[in-house]
Amino acid sequence: MLLKPNLKLDKITDITYEMLKRRNITSLLLDVDNTLSTHHGMVLCAGLEEWLKYMKDNGINLLILSNSKKKRVEPFAEKIGLPFISLGLKPLFTGFARGRKRLNVGRKNLAIVGDQIFTDTLGGNFYGINTILLTPIKPESSLRFKIKRRLEKAVYKIYKIEDMKE
Ligand SMILES: [Mg+2]
Repeated sequence: MLLKPNLKLDKITDITYEMLKRRNITSLLLDVDNTLSTHHGMVLCAGLEEWLKYMKDNGINLLILSNSKKKRVEPFAEKIGLPFISLGLKPLFTGFARGRKRLNVGRKNLAIVGDQIFTDTLGGNFYGINTILLTPIKPESSLRFKIKRRLEKAVYKIYKIEDMKE
């Protein structure tokens, strides 16, 4: 069950404060690539700024946790005004542990939001936090990613992830 998220949604702006409250989630670790913007893109996904403000206004603590390098993550984090951890090494526990420490929050009150089953979902489940899986904004073009996405499709099928309702 380590590959199955607690929640599967289409896009980040589908996450509501009520959903988090119901699950006692007070803090979110946010992936960047294909979660908040396209892969290595600087364009924010639709409605992101409003959503970030809405979450902050409701007291949700936000921290970026990305596997990408600092030179990619830092300018993006600055653009949206969030603290960040780059080279997060997801699915290993280290980045999750650093993030949780910085947010000073219990595992049960923390969730990772991301688009990749083998990094975001697997790592989050293994570390024992809530996992929210999103549909990738735009498919990547590299062969490595094409293989990854094909494997993810198999997992989607096995766990019937597409049918997961709130
Ligand atoms: Mg991603």
